[in-house]
Amino acid sequence: MSNLAIKIDIDTLRGYKEGTPRLLNLLKKHGISASIFFSFGPDNSGKAIRRIFRKGFISKMLRTKAPSTYGWKTLFYGTLLPAPMIVASDPDIFKRAHAEGHDCGVHAWDHVLTQDKLQTMSENDFESLYGKAAAMFEKISGCRPTCYAAPGWQVSEASLAAQERLKLKYATDTRGRSPFMPKYKSRSFSVPQIPTTMPTMDEILGLEGVTDESLPVVWIGLLNNEWNVLTVHAEMEGLSKLGVFEDFILRAKADGVRFLTLREVAEKAEKASGEIVAGCLPGRAGSVALQSA
Ligand SMILES: [Zn+2]
Repeated sequence: MSNLAIKIDIDTLRGYKEGTPRLLNLLKKHGISASIFFSFGPDNSGKAIRRIFRKGFISKMLRTKAPSTYGWKTLFYGTLLPAPMIVASDPDIFKRAHAEGHDCGVHAWDHVLTQDKLQTMSENDFESLYGKAAAMFEKISGCRPTCYAAPGWQVSEASLAAQERLKLKYATDTRGRSPFMPKYKSRSFSVPQIPTTMPTMDEILGLEGVTDESLPVVWIGLLNNEWNVLTVHAEMEGLSKLGVFEDFILRAKADGVRFLTLREVAEKAEKASGEIVAGCLPGRAGSVALQSA
């Protein structure tokens, strides 16, 4: 029997307001608890256009039909249009996710800013952005957040050190094979990393004959680690690809897959020490934090 933890990232206002309620309905229908990471503050998606000079960005935008996935307005937030606040636009959606027992955590205050500028941020810069998200988390739910998922799978010494100082239960900033205690640039950190083990939809859809119909089967074939983690996006699996995601859930249930949250994985799994290195993944632009081989 395979274990699978579903990690949901919410990056944009549209993903939050339209995709998240649909994903919550789907999870409820199938009796699944997931780990859900919220971008709380401004939706500056339009500024991601800076990445246009990064290798692979345009091909990914075209392959994933970015304008229809994200909505035209989203592509101008923070540039031609003002950046709207995400969770503050409708706190009840976050409140509902928390009340329904999902493992909720911080993805970002400002997703685009953190993904693009993390390497130049000090520990204090990082903590002050995290602190804004954490304050809103606590104000709405009455609980302090204890887990974090880095935007765009980016880490730095400052982000890892801040997680340690904040005494988080776990972080999910990396791509890899198994839960581990991270070492980065020869320093060891005490917050376990629960890596995403499977490729995301936007990395493989449209490649080598992977279609909406075949993707669920491809994912099932990749449930081959002891602790499998799949990251889905409120903007994709919560909107135009909800049916594809549900097809995968149905197949996984039929195969007897056991669903659990990343928090449960962090509690149950053995964690050997492992190095975080920067590297590239097929279908993804730029470099990400990888659990080294
Ligand atoms: Zn994200």
